Amino acid sequence: MDIAEFRRHAHDFVDWMAEYLETVEQYPVRAQTKPGEIAAKLPDAPPEAGEAMERIFADFKADVMPGITHWQHPRFFAYFSANSSPPSVLAEMLTATLAAQCMLWQTSPAATEMETKVLDWLRQMIGLPEGFHGVIQDTASGAILCAILTGREKATAWQGNEEGLAACPPLAVYTSEETHSSTEKGAKIAGIGRKYVRKIATDDDFALRPDALEAAIRADLEAGVKPACVVASIGATGIGAVDPLRAIGEICQRNDVFLHVDAAWAGSALICPEHRWMIDGMELADSFVFNPHKWLLTNFDCSAHYVRDPDALIRTFSILPEYLKSREGADVIDYRDWGVPLGRRFRALKLWFVIRSYGVARLQEMIRNHIAWTEELAGQVEAAPDFELITAPKLSLFTFRYRPAGLDDAALDALNERLVHALNDDGRIYLTQTKVRGRYVIRFTVGQAYTERRHVQEAWALIQETARGLQAAAAE
Ligand code: PLP
Repeated sequence: MDIAEFRRHAHDFVDWMAEYLETVEQYPVRAQTKPGEIAAKLPDAPPEAGEAMERIFADFKADVMPGITHWQHPRFFAYFSANSSPPSVLAEMLTATLAAQCMLWQTSPAATEMETKVLDWLRQMIGLPEGFHGVIQDTASGAILCAILTGREKATAWQGNEEGLAACPPLAVYTSEETHSSTEKGAKIAGIGRKYVRKIATDDDFALRPDALEAAIRADLEAGVKPACVVASIGATGIGAVDPLRAIGEICQRNDVFLHVDAAWAGSALICPEHRWMIDGMELADSFVFNPHKWLLTNFDCSAHYVRDPDALIRTFSILPEYLKSREGADVIDYRDWGVPLGRRFRALKLWFVIRSYGVARLQEMIRNHIAWTEELAGQVEAAPDFELITAPKLSLFTFRYRPAGLDDAALDALNERLVHALNDDGRIYLTQTKVRGRYVIRFTVGQAYTERRHVQEAWALIQETARGLQAAAAE
């Protein structure tokens, strides 16, 4: 493709992109295809000769689009959002065009220097104490892995890196029963072993119990197991639980254990000062992550990872072969040493575009709206006689279930599961489930850029109508 053709197609694509965003509401939110349906439309072997872009684009629209779940749909209320915005997409177009590898300062000084600067903007925006240094990781899972590895290396005085874990005592990672599965995955990858992931009990509000944490650390120390890392959650995935950071931090300090704070979703809400109580005690933590790619209008992937001691992180990851040496040495930051991959995309650009384009005030307004609409809906659910609010809103997430009279818990579980499937098969909204104290419940979370109050209210009308319809049909 020559550049003149590229220009023509790019204009066509941008027209399509704008129209898509204008009309995304008309699509079913969750793809309505069956397993294998899209694969059946794709040839089994690659073409020998190149094909015209018109044809490729036509196939994209006809064969690929039906298999897309529309995460930017205003009635997407499932999982946690992965929102985006026009300025973010515009920046991604530039990043893709430059296609720079930003692993060393030298391989794109602007990318490195902007990453440092924009992550410090973000640090100020969310009220993280000074002295935290930021780096963009691909995902919160990647940041958690970095934290566990750093904790492992500090706990073994860097013997894990040098000698391998066979030369070290068994290590343990501590986290709550509510914490996202990425902690367990990180512990597996870090060679700590799932058996040594201590799932600490939670209190009535699903927050990690500091007394249980301290007891678990003590028991391990007595048994010759070395505590490597505690992962606390601010806004855990199931119901949005918030762990008591200060109490956990004090335990970590007393026992010299690395503390990582996972705020993948809830971290964006910290741009509103009224939510900063959640990070009281943050000065006691060693690292922190949140995902602007979840709730801050910056398309995936973009995880903001902050560490108090970059040297510990760098020492965990640094390898310096001859071909990566540069004459700037310690005068500059080479982010390749701050995580697992060597190659890095220019991800700071989209954050820079988003923050400059909206400004902090507009971003705060979005978060506050999402929370207000969620609270309004939770109140309506609570007031409905045949619905039950299971967990009250944590920011923009609550859980509920349909509870018509006369059914036991097992029947209610089955009915609510059928309700989720019926709603998602209908396609007008998208919801997902979790378990709370063993019961099947429905999560509702607002986080999309294009969601308005009316979409939330439309969802509530549809949930009631579908639930009561299912129950009436079952009663017949
Ligand atoms: N932590 C929490 C609380 C999450 O909700 C999620 C994902 O939803 C993750 C971590 C993992 O995020 P990522 O997809 O960026 O690895």
